[in-house]
Amino acid sequence: MNVDVAKNLHEVLGNLPKEVRLVAISKYHPNEYLETAYNEGQRIFGESHEQELAQKQETLPKDIEWHFIGHLQTNKVKYIAPYISMIEAVDSYKLLKEINKQAAKNGRIIKVLLELHIAEEETKYGLTLDDCRDMLEKGEWKDLGNVQICGLMMMASNTTEISLIEKEFDTATSFFDEIKVKFFADAPEFKERSWGMSHDYKIAIKHGSTMVRVGTTIFGPRVY
Ligand SMILES: *Cc1c(COP(=O)(O)O)cnc(C)c1O
Repeated sequence: MNVDVAKNLHEVLGNLPKEVRLVAISKYHPNEYLETAYNEGQRIFGESHEQELAQKQETLPKDIEWHFIGHLQTNKVKYIAPYISMIEAVDSYKLLKEINKQAAKNGRIIKVLLELHIAEEETKYGLTLDDCRDMLEKGEWKDLGNVQICGLMMMASNTTEISLIEKEFDTATSFFDEIKVKFFADAPEFKERSWGMSHDYKIAIKHGSTMVRVGTTIFGPRVY
């Protein structure tokens, strides 16, 4: 192993305030890297491809909490529903409904985050703030008893312009506060703000993040 996963992991953990949790983003990395992080105490891992996740879930320890962080097609939900701990990137009501259906089939309640599209890049998935508001105002989601909406997720623009990144995190935090009051005032589980990746997690923790998703800084560059 030419990447010192243990050292990198502890460095990142050392930068996080106690109340911020780390999702170690392990996509495209081999099991041995995850095992090293696991042996150092890391339990939350994030993956973005259903087949790769299935292979890792089968072979790695069962007390790992797997987060699905990528764009999830509705026809793939059934494969991860038996074991997924949190689906972070819910970007449509259709997907939310399918997760609810598959969770029910498995006798489970699956935690999800709603993914916001705030960054200026067109390639990013996610709900615009207006779409997210509309979806919540319609209220149909309240009948979905097998999903638990635990907060929001977003990616800031991939830029070196720190003020833009800060602005986007702040937009997401104000939006969180707005919908918390309007729709989730009685839902203590609605508390997560998943923002911050390798290049911007230190900014994110100063701008409202409760959960950072860090890959490259821990595991090194991904080999596709
Ligand atoms: C890959 C990925 C990450 C991790 O990115 P790094 O730059 O490697 O830290 C975080 N969030 C999402 C949604 C990702 O797809």
